[in-house]
Amino acid sequence: MTPPPTILLTNDDGIHSPGLARLQEALAPLGRIVVIAPDRDNSAVSHSLTMNRPLKVTPLGDDRYTIDGTPTDCVAVGLKKILASPPDLLVSGINAGPNLGDDISYSGTVSAAIEGTMYGIPSLALSVGGSPPHDFREAMRVAALMAARALASPLPADTLLNINVPSTGRPCRLRVTRQGRRLWENSIHEALDPRGTTHYWIGGGTPVPDLGEDTDVHALAIGLVSITPIHLDLTNHAGIAYLRESWCLEELNESHKP
Ligand code: MN
Repeated sequence: MTPPPTILLTNDDGIHSPGLARLQEALAPLGRIVVIAPDRDNSAVSHSLTMNRPLKVTPLGDDRYTIDGTPTDCVAVGLKKILASPPDLLVSGINAGPNLGDDISYSGTVSAAIEGTMYGIPSLALSVGGSPPHDFREAMRVAALMAARALASPLPADTLLNINVPSTGRPCRLRVTRQGRRLWENSIHEALDPRGTTHYWIGGGTPVPDLGEDTDVHALAIGLVSITPIHLDLTNHAGIAYLRESWCLEELNESHKP
């Protein structure tokens, strides 16, 4: 008999976040769950790795660990130092709030899945849309469905899935999407501190709608579950030919002969 699969869970909202507990509840029937998550909220830390101080791992029992670091630290230390063998799947989430369009470059949730993918672990990032209080019920159903799929069938090479689910208790249709644009208006607030110095606080604001109907942003806006395959290669492959042919960059070598 083959042993049950091992599923590594992490997040960026921290070990005590309700979304992580709901994710564990949803995936528990699928295999052995190991949770390794930051000890506090690390939202918008992106793919940062802690290199300027040591990291402490605190075991909490029952395959649960917390680390005083980032989501990427949790995945890297988890894979290399905590788990005896690589997990069959990594799931990051369920993030309280969407991770859509350009915003995914800031996302700790998505970055944990990027880190897993870099190590060759099939990885999913899951977020629930809307604002608090979030309804995680549909996200739990989608988490179980997508995790079962990812355990049964390989993902495309070097690719993670960024999954965003409406905050609702009713079933939603799935749509495979591309990453859209998501710019924000009025998201930097300016005010005076008690000493009269101007300070700035980033957050909130209004997203500028992406009109592309095949995007993640649009799918969530019309109440669909958005599933976007994200790959690690950020190269604009058409840009290679453009820089060679229109900018003639490599011909510049002839003029100064390095
Ligand atoms: Mn978060």
